[in-house]
Amino acid sequence: MTQQQTYDTLIVGGRVIDPANGVDQIADVAVTGGRIAAVEGGLAASAAATTRIDATGQLVLPGLVEGHTHIFESVSKVGAPAVEAHLRRGVVAAADAGTAGASTFAAFRRIVVDPNPMRILSFLNVSVLGLIDFRYGELLNPETFNVEDALQVAADNADMVRGFKIRLSEDVLGDQITPLLKKAVDLGEQGGLPVMVHIGETALSVPEIVDMLRPGDIIAHCYTGKAPTILGDNGRVQDEIYAARERGVLYESAHGRSNLSFKVAAPAIEQGFIPDVITSDTSARNWRGPVFDLVTSMSKLIALGIRLEDVIPRVTIEPARLLGIDGEGFGALTVGGPAHVAVLTGAGVATLTDAAGNTIEAARLEPTAVLLNGEQFDLVPWRGLSA
Ligand SMILES: [Zn+2]
Repeated sequence: MTQQQTYDTLIVGGRVIDPANGVDQIADVAVTGGRIAAVEGGLAASAAATTRIDATGQLVLPGLVEGHTHIFESVSKVGAPAVEAHLRRGVVAAADAGTAGASTFAAFRRIVVDPNPMRILSFLNVSVLGLIDFRYGELLNPETFNVEDALQVAADNADMVRGFKIRLSEDVLGDQITPLLKKAVDLGEQGGLPVMVHIGETALSVPEIVDMLRPGDIIAHCYTGKAPTILGDNGRVQDEIYAARERGVLYESAHGRSNLSFKVAAPAIEQGFIPDVITSDTSARNWRGPVFDLVTSMSKLIALGIRLEDVIPRVTIEPARLLGIDGEGFGALTVGGPAHVAVLTGAGVATLTDAAGNTIEAARLEPTAVLLNGEQFDLVPWRGLSA
């Protein structure tokens, strides 16, 4: 008689979707010593485990990766608490998108990154101030865009700085859009890093903006309803948007407080234009609604027509690659790799809102378990329930 295999954790009977490894099947996931020990159908029948998680009828995914959020809590007016807003909602790695700048980065590291179990990355704001308070545009004084400081901080923190962030809204940088965007792209070139560009309430058109970007640079808020949008006067996604994508420019959804419009997203999705990475742009201004969290952003985009099978890679392996953490095992359920797992269930139909107050009936996804390095963390209920 063979000895029964015993694991730390068995996640049993779920639909395992792991795009990086080409897996989409009903299977059991075994975890031992913080690592994925096996992903196999029928494994649980003959194995024992200290903890068994019944995932029947649920999705078993790589732990979610958030490519755009704001988590400089206690310092920035937009900083949401990283663990409450993300880990306890199924996200194991997250990139802060420009909340910290060169002058505040040491504090970001000490307050947010060091004490936090999640993997945290950063798109460093080109302004030394970062996004400290939304009432005061961080580039209204262009002197705050200090190339040397940004390059130094990026180099000193290469383990977590994965790009630079610039916000092009007029209340952020006045009428200096073109020279400051050009300066940001030059900074990216010098630092060997991509630039994430926030659009919405910007004087340039999206074709004019993408024309200045390099392969690997990222347009944040691709479904914003605030001018300029990706749609032309004929209601179709503009040709230049696709041409830039052909050149390697990336698009992320970044819902945010004011930058997801169902009226832009629905036709764009119907025309086949979907983001390279799906992000929530969670912040202290929206994590109690209308954004809530990444799984709610996923639910909205699925309700608008993006297939579940197309959403999953865009919240797992694609952002992991973009952030350069796929090599650390994020975004995949690879046997032998770290056990970062999210289990999601269908939580019924909910009325969800975009940034302009438009509503949609959506089948809402809800996390039921999250593992980071094999350790299971407590979840918090959807904050929309109390809203
Ligand atoms: Zn943002």
